Amino acid sequence: MAKFIFVTGGVTSSLGKGIIAASLAKLLQARGLRVTIQKFDPYINVDPGTLNPYEHGECYVTEDGAETDLDLGHYERFLNIFTSQANNVTTGRIYQTVINKEREGAFLGKTVQVVPHITDEIKRRMLALGQGDKYDIILTELGGTVGDIESLPYIEAVRQLQWELPEEDLLVVHLTLIPYLRAAKELKTKPTQHSVKQLSESGVFPDVIVCRAEEPLNDEIKRKIAQFCNVKQEAVIEAQDASTIYEVPVLMMNEKLDLIVLKKLAITGYGEPDLSKWKEFLDKLKYPKARITIGLIGKYVELQDAYKSILESFVHAGAMNECKVQVVSIHSEFITPENVVEKLENLDGLLVAPGFGYRGIEGKITAVKYARESGLPFFGICLGMQMAVIEYGRNVLNISNAQSTEMDPKTSEPVIDMMEEQKKITTKGGTMRLGSYPCEIKEGTLAYNIYGSAEVKERHRHRYEFNNKYLQQYEEGGMSASGRNPETGLVEIMEIGSHPFFIGCQYHPELKSTVESPHPLFVHFVGAAKKYYEQKHTVKNPLLQSEMI
Ligand code: GLN
Repeated sequence: MAKFIFVTGGVTSSLGKGIIAASLAKLLQARGLRVTIQKFDPYINVDPGTLNPYEHGECYVTEDGAETDLDLGHYERFLNIFTSQANNVTTGRIYQTVINKEREGAFLGKTVQVVPHITDEIKRRMLALGQGDKYDIILTELGGTVGDIESLPYIEAVRQLQWELPEEDLLVVHLTLIPYLRAAKELKTKPTQHSVKQLSESGVFPDVIVCRAEEPLNDEIKRKIAQFCNVKQEAVIEAQDASTIYEVPVLMMNEKLDLIVLKKLAITGYGEPDLSKWKEFLDKLKYPKARITIGLIGKYVELQDAYKSILESFVHAGAMNECKVQVVSIHSEFITPENVVEKLENLDGLLVAPGFGYRGIEGKITAVKYARESGLPFFGICLGMQMAVIEYGRNVLNISNAQSTEMDPKTSEPVIDMMEEQKKITTKGGTMRLGSYPCEIKEGTLAYNIYGSAEVKERHRHRYEFNNKYLQQYEEGGMSASGRNPETGLVEIMEIGSHPFFIGCQYHPELKSTVESPHPLFVHFVGAAKKYYEQKHTVKNPLLQSEMI
């Protein structure tokens, strides 16, 4: 029988509940326990797939094609496991299930209510991953902040479970903020007391309180929090701001968070956490030997969370290359043929990001042209690959009207076209080509050199695809398909063999990069950018030296 940990948040949003949950999970996993994490989100969208990145950050896609919250990306990156549709549940999905059942007549004439029908469905899903002896621990992060109207049914479900399950099978961690008042030079515990009080009034009593704070909590403050929030002093955990999210598991280990959890859950017989690989990664991350600059061209650049997985993949790949990767975001709408050199000349690599719709695509195409012509390492992801195909068509193959039917449905040269199976789909949510598909890689190509394998599996999220009617023309003209789907022949990777490093993929490699297994495409792209940087500087050096002589 699995045990259940719930992580709630109080005082304010954005305290990093996902990172704390993932860090605790990591520590338990590092002790040999089988752990998974799930997230319950209190909004009414059935999933975040239809949400604009400005609303909700990146939409993370799992192996089984679920469009999920970006915290699932953190879970996978920390734990090096796959999550699935079952790991992300929203209020919309809960209601959809209950309403569908009601229409089927499953409630036998009863009035369908929030309690017990909605809370029963929440509980069923909270416990679902615990079936079948796959995991020892299921961590559940509850989205939102305690006190929000929409969080109430989730808190009520936890209250019922706290009463239904044996005491040593359930634990609640509450994450709060201890603000530091600079004028008074004091840490303030009152907001935490209020938030725990609010949680307790709903019948849920936290076992552990994790306190985000800008200043260290002294014993006196910890004692006060323990006393007023009804927990043992050892269960008040300090979570100071860290220089990187990857340091948090180590900070939590130093605070003995995992030990307190094991004690309350009556889990014995597990040794010290083995974080050796993790610490090796942290060392490389903290003490880089080189530094490069990558330009990320996208249209949601104002919001860091919109390209979360890409940014984290660069952290993993940078550590692997012992190199600090500085990512500069460049808004595609503001790149023009006139300013492109000025905007991109100081970069060591160019990544054109995924995206949807017409806005900013001409800037992306201009940026690709610059990288192709100047020899700057180029990496295009999804829409980024599609832009590289259009650019090559227009500027090298003389297909002057080359376009994607996403941007111009009536284009005379649809080098990127809607996939056949997409043409009959009219609804939006969950209807793209989603999740993991195999990709066969041609030997002797850059892609093969990177992966070192003839077949890989990667995750997708798109409706448009390279139009195979143009394949021969492209391959004869120097841009070739080095990766294709073995069953359908869909093109998954395009590359230019004569360029030092120019590759675009239709899938999203950033969704599979983890701390312990950085994605090879990112690792090699950073490697190529490092080489580009070194070459740029060694070419200059002899000149400099001769000038000095
Ligand atoms: N808009 C493009 C498509 O649907 C690319 C999608 C993406 O970049 N994820 O094919």
